[in-house]
Amino acid sequence: MLSIKNYEFWFVTGSQHLYGPKTLAQVEKDSMAIVEGLNKSGKMPCKIVFKPVVKTPAEISKIFKDAAYDDMCAGIIAWMHTFSPSKMWINGLKDFKKPYLHFHTQFNRTIPWNEIDMDFMNLNQSAHGDREHGFIGARLQMPRKIVVGYWEDELPQLKIANWMRSAAGYAVSQNLKMVRFGDNMRQVAVTEGDKVEAEIKLGWDIEYRGIGDLVEVINKVTDAEVDKKMAEYASKYDMNTDNIDSVRYQAKTEVALEKIFEKFGYQAFTTNFEDLHGMEQLPGLAAQNLMHNGYGFGGEGDWKVAAMTAIMKAMSEGLEGGTSFMEDYTYHLEKNNEHILGAHMLEVCPSLADGRAKIEVHELGIGGKKPPARLVFDSRKGDAIVVSLIDIGGRLRMIVNDVKACSPLQKMPNLPVAGVMWKPMPDLATSAEAWILAGGAHHSVLSYSLTAEHMHDWAAMMGIEFLHINKDTTISSFEKELMWNDLAYKLR
Ligand code: MN
Repeated sequence: MLSIKNYEFWFVTGSQHLYGPKTLAQVEKDSMAIVEGLNKSGKMPCKIVFKPVVKTPAEISKIFKDAAYDDMCAGIIAWMHTFSPSKMWINGLKDFKKPYLHFHTQFNRTIPWNEIDMDFMNLNQSAHGDREHGFIGARLQMPRKIVVGYWEDELPQLKIANWMRSAAGYAVSQNLKMVRFGDNMRQVAVTEGDKVEAEIKLGWDIEYRGIGDLVEVINKVTDAEVDKKMAEYASKYDMNTDNIDSVRYQAKTEVALEKIFEKFGYQAFTTNFEDLHGMEQLPGLAAQNLMHNGYGFGGEGDWKVAAMTAIMKAMSEGLEGGTSFMEDYTYHLEKNNEHILGAHMLEVCPSLADGRAKIEVHELGIGGKKPPARLVFDSRKGDAIVVSLIDIGGRLRMIVNDVKACSPLQKMPNLPVAGVMWKPMPDLATSAEAWILAGGAHHSVLSYSLTAEHMHDWAAMMGIEFLHINKDTTISSFEKELMWNDLAYKLR
């Protein structure tokens, strides 16, 4: 799988010839110092590449064309050290589709009170150069991120780093290939959607394969290959079952899935317990370990959540936390201590686990197959988000809820699956009402590593609707937002 570390971002500084070569040489030097400072901050997930200062419409158009056709360039960071008349930028910007960040900073932090003269003023013109640049972005209605702050400060650096993760997620999305084994679960609505629209809007190549294609590969997996996978399991998890045959079947399934993913370049997959012809078990442990290794997964044919799991895992590469396919399962409605218990039939990613996960084998009261091996664990506490992507008819809508994950309020010795317990913001009643009003799915992606801002920026890059349920949400304002968004999208 491609690491987001391989992507790079181009740093483009705008100016014009009016200033003369001496000033332009200084602009270039200062700009290089900023790029070096950002790269050395240790916060950036990808490399920022300095590009020569652009001074003419031809130079500007060329750099945007080059960026558009460079597979490893995941976006542009622009800064106007001096004044760069924005009509020069129109041709370059109007066809540019990759993520764009406008960094509004200034090379010097403070005014040099005793030395300041008009030469200094003309060189350090971001205060108005960047406003001219802002106008053309607004006039072209460009999706863009604006980060304001001194380039050596932590907050703007973190904002740039976070945006870079969203932009890398944009690149991952544009190249995402996934496979659905079996179709969507019969009669389920929210997991369905327009796959053609998803490919146009998000870039996803969503392919179908009959379960027979998988069974054929499973049946050819060798004992040696299963042994190797079992050793991987032993290194990561504790064996808490005598039913080793069941675990070996999951290992066999996982090896087969890996072979198929490698052959066709898939980064995410779905299963459907209604369609397991020729398989002995629903993939449980196999799906969980694949997620741990970076693949996206969705249950019951939910291709949207599978792809989002893969993208969000890529976006969070190298960050603390964990990211998993999730489902709102059951509520704890104790007055003033309301919680949600999230889980799934089997498939929760062990990247969420608080400690080492255990491999167990239990009956699955659904699907009529043999008891599947699965990982059982409690999840760690911490701030997290849950993310749902739905097709609301004519457009895609992303809904994000800030949540606080906690340790289980009490032990659940009879629960044979992994789970997460959380308090949704602002409270369970408001969160659930807003989520249901918006049509959010029971399936989601839960991430401790990413924040709503990462997803907001990603949705803006994709040109899809974004709704955020957070500590400040009220139902009356949320209802208005839904109504206004409906109107806005009808006008587009
Ligand atoms: Mn489900």
